Amino acid sequence: MARYNDAKCRLCRREGMKLFLKGARCFTDRCAIERRNYPPGQHGLNRGKLTPYGIQLREKQKAKRIYGVLESQFRRYFQWAEGQKGVTGENLLRLLETRLDNVVFRLGFAASRRESRQMVAHGHFQVNGRKAAIPSFLVKVGDAVQLRPTSKLAPRVDDNLNAGRGQVPAWLELDAGARRGVVRSLPLREDIQIPVTEQLIVELYSK
Ligand code: SF4
Repeated sequence: MARYNDAKCRLCRREGMKLFLKGARCFTDRCAIERRNYPPGQHGLNRGKLTPYGIQLREKQKAKRIYGVLESQFRRYFQWAEGQKGVTGENLLRLLETRLDNVVFRLGFAASRRESRQMVAHGHFQVNGRKAAIPSFLVKVGDAVQLRPTSKLAPRVDDNLNAGRGQVPAWLELDAGARRGVVRSLPLREDIQIPVTEQLIVELYSK
């Protein structure tokens, strides 16, 4: 499985905003955006104004980077979203948001999507009582996502829950004691708090 293995903070600096890719560090003054909020590279400080295409491209890159999805998979999500009823941009975000790794992160079990992806891929979570080790697995309404009782990650998950880095969105219900969350509904656009204008992504892919 292909994945991005270079420095994560470069991605935030390129987008000019915190994408919260590193967990606890993102909330400290060691965050690269706090120290060097300009694009990386030799010409980082001298980049010119973005063209309309550049603006659309940056929006797509931002969404990909936030969810940790690479280009080919992201494009597949877009094609899938296009084929669904409703607004394509919102469908796209809903698909990304209902990925199992994102749900584990949103419930507060992990400090970042990167950590949640690893926890899921290593088989520490179950959905409706059955082991689920595929980060891209899409949850449905009524699904129960829980840390497996045999997992050695319980202390780590409890630490993350106690850190309280974010609010659990309204479409999920958390039972912290049981390390369990239930999908109450599919997320609406207002439930998806990410700094992305999805319409620009639709325009980019529709060229
Ligand atoms: Fe981004 Fe976190 Fe790095 Fe800050 S510390 S630049 S938010 S990944």
